[in-house]
Amino acid sequence: MLNLFKKVLVLAPHTDDGELGAGGTIAKLIESGAEVYYAAFSTAEESVPEGFPKDILKTEVKAATEKLGIKKENLFIFNFRVRKLNYSRQEILEELVQLKNKYKFDLVLLPSVEDIHQDHSTIANEGIRAFKNTSIFAYELIWNNLSFKTQFFSILSEAHVNSKINALAEYKSQGKRDYMSDEFIRSLARVRGVQIGTKYAECFEVIRLIL
Ligand SMILES: [Zn+2]
Repeated sequence: MLNLFKKVLVLAPHTDDGELGAGGTIAKLIESGAEVYYAAFSTAEESVPEGFPKDILKTEVKAATEKLGIKKENLFIFNFRVRKLNYSRQEILEELVQLKNKYKFDLVLLPSVEDIHQDHSTIANEGIRAFKNTSIFAYELIWNNLSFKTQFFSILSEAHVNSKINALAEYKSQGKRDYMSDEFIRSLARVRGVQIGTKYAECFEVIRLIL
């Protein structure tokens, strides 16, 4: 069913969220011929660890999305301030509406409305507002999810999981976080796989499904 979607937009509050929540599925969509676009809303300049240039996340998201097979021209990087996306709620909504009108996506991937990070929850809500007439799946970021409905499983091959791991390895500035480790990424894919009797999967909430 996933291969029915041909024009997909991934909404990432911060540069790595899209790869963390849906990296394997992005690789799978591209393999099945979909055009995948990626919008990152903050490059988190205030949170970059010491020793890295302030715009390091911009460099890293370019490399990571390229590893997943996303074309350069399909990557949109906005510079809203980290932890303050809600201050720019309306501007973000207007950017999303412009993207919607220009590209006519048939699927949008975004964070869950049960995600408690303030920036994630802003993008979840504005994304749903802008794309209410489009199919929408919400990806999981378990360290921020108060709850998560396991409604749609995207079966992944070993290659899809490796592609996700290789893409995330580009985030050298974020390497110390637990959820960036190969072990964690592979383990979560196994957990979701075991839930449906397969090796690897990613899991999504179905917000809207229009076929
Ligand atoms: Zn984030």
